[in-house]
Amino acid sequence: MYVGKEKLRQITEPESTDIFEYINDRDLVITETLIQNFPADFGLMFIHFPTADWMGHEYGWLSGEQLSVLFRADEAIANLLAELDARAMRDETLLIITADHGGHGTTHGSSLPEDMTIPRIASGAGIQPAALEAPITTVDTAATAAFALGLPIPAEWDGVPVYEAFGLPMAEESRGCQ
Ligand SMILES: [Zn+2]
Repeated sequence: MYVGKEKLRQITEPESTDIFEYINDRDLVITETLIQNFPADFGLMFIHFPTADWMGHEYGWLSGEQLSVLFRADEAIANLLAELDARAMRDETLLIITADHGGHGTTHGSSLPEDMTIPRIASGAGIQPAALEAPITTVDTAATAAFALGLPIPAEWDGVPVYEAFGLPMAEESRGCQ
């Protein structure tokens, strides 16, 4: 895990991560730090960019200031992709790029569509390029990663894998009341 907010330590048991690096800096510095110390082998990597959230709270969601740092986040992802290319790892790597919330004004946390709508990109190993039809939620990300890694999905998880991204039928009956 390479994260821009130290509080993200709480989302995993410490003994479950080989690396937990909190980098109190901009998104481009986070990927630069990662690229300089790229792990020789890994099964799952979590990279967190904090800057869009900071700038949203400071200047407003979709403000010019926030959009300018989203361009920097895009550059940071490009640098990461270039590193995967240089290491001939791109084809075997599945990337899931998403956010945990949107925002409105200088805040988030309400049930407004502006707060609840998030970007979702899946690319690489196993993915069938297409726009997704089925609705997905934040909790589906962990289930999708587990599915892609061939890991069992705990019964108590609310999320379901986004099978559609892999060109598979969505299991509608697997979500909901049980
Ligand atoms: Zn926030």
